[in-house]
Amino acid sequence: MTSAPFFDAPVSALRRALDEKDISSVELASLFLDRIEAFDSGLNAFITVDRERALADARAADERIARKGTGALTGIPLAYKDVFCTEGMLTTCASKMLSNFVSPYDAHAVTLLKQAGTVNLGKTNMDECAMGSSSETSYYGPVKNPWNPAHVSGGSSGGSAAAVAARLAPIAAGSDTGGSVRQPAAFCGITGIKATYGLISRFGMIAYASSLDQAGVFGASASDCALLLSAMTGFDPRDSTSLDRPTENYAAAIEAPSPNPARPLDGLTIGVPDEFFSEGLGDETRAAIEQALAQYRALGASTRKIALPNARLAIPVCYVIAMAEASSNLSRFDGVRYGHRAAEYADLVDMYCKSRSEGFGAEVQRRILAGTFVLSHGYYDAYYLQAQKLRRLITEDFKRAFAECDLIAAPTAPVTAWPLGAMSDDPVQMYLADIYTTPVNLAGLPGLSHPCGFDTAGLPIGLQLIGDYFSESRLLAATHRFQQATDWHLRRPAIARTSA
Ligand code: GLN
Repeated sequence: MTSAPFFDAPVSALRRALDEKDISSVELASLFLDRIEAFDSGLNAFITVDRERALADARAADERIARKGTGALTGIPLAYKDVFCTEGMLTTCASKMLSNFVSPYDAHAVTLLKQAGTVNLGKTNMDECAMGSSSETSYYGPVKNPWNPAHVSGGSSGGSAAAVAARLAPIAAGSDTGGSVRQPAAFCGITGIKATYGLISRFGMIAYASSLDQAGVFGASASDCALLLSAMTGFDPRDSTSLDRPTENYAAAIEAPSPNPARPLDGLTIGVPDEFFSEGLGDETRAAIEQALAQYRALGASTRKIALPNARLAIPVCYVIAMAEASSNLSRFDGVRYGHRAAEYADLVDMYCKSRSEGFGAEVQRRILAGTFVLSHGYYDAYYLQAQKLRRLITEDFKRAFAECDLIAAPTAPVTAWPLGAMSDDPVQMYLADIYTTPVNLAGLPGLSHPCGFDTAGLPIGLQLIGDYFSESRLLAATHRFQQATDWHLRRPAIARTSA
């Protein structure tokens, strides 16, 4: 191997090392398991780590490698946000409600990744039921940011992002309902992409808000993300919103040679919405984004102003819809067939009340109540229906924008990772931090965040790229070109430079 240690090598280099027998999958898995053991107590990125299971996966992968039956990810370790059901393994959604739930089946994405020969290192920590922007509401305690453990990792997929940033896993899967892949990717200084709605099956992913939820992936670079994303997509009849379309090889797409290597992004038009640069955007974030846009222009892209006039409505619209859907989705957790059940109760209704009151944390209960309210008779039209109408306007803004540009660039979040606890008493303030990510979920579009700088406190800043439906290749390719010309994605927190 060349310069990078195995725990910090790109997935493509790990592939070569495995195929050339420089390292076995068992050795590679052990390396990451040892790192988790050594460093995760300081980060709390994982809820469940199953060494035996991981090593069994790795042994199976080594046999496949010996038979030369490998795909891009055979023998590569990864981690799953604890929203993905994994057969025979604890799947908690970071909630006391599911703290004893051993899933009897795999999520579709997990099935695909098993078939690809990946090694499951474990399940990562997150906001309870994926509700939050900081990974602090977990029943298992908050995730800490690898760049500064006094700060949040972002959320709700904060454990997956922190694990990749700290090199406790080379790649990881997450889910994004209103920003939960892109924002923690930004806060942890890594690359994360949320797919077009319908591209990755939601079967076996514990539902938060079904019309917004979509899986996504984390990696140190666009090329690592491309490999994982390619392996997770594909039609699944068990998800009625799964799209039946040919799968794409994103990794191959981003490696396509450019006719103009000096200006590989020639011809790409990047739209820059004024609305995403208004008040509330931190000065350092703004400066970093502007510098990144200059870099995109140097690579041949042109930038132009576009308008997304209704995007400012995205927070209330997204939260009304998300809470409404959550109140319905979470009604299945009643303590009857699985999950937490109160030890003592007077009758059936009392059992439901006590089990749900004990099983869910404050933020989840707040959302169930608000969601039930906006769906209730007399308020449905005023809130839920109104939100659906505004959702349509937000979606149409994007449609108009993509007639003028190929991609949209914006900050991922208005601020960098805040100190632990700083927003815990002010949920609305925390909701507002999702201002730039929620419009993308409402429209069902793919979105990516890649690192583009640091603030003066040394915390990472993310640039968000938004694409039209099914433009994952274009998003990843543009980011890949950016990353070939810059080194933000190569910066590591101290913990990721330390051997276990
Ligand atoms: N932060 C948003 C929320 O709390 C989005 C979370 C997510 O994408 N899962 O609902």
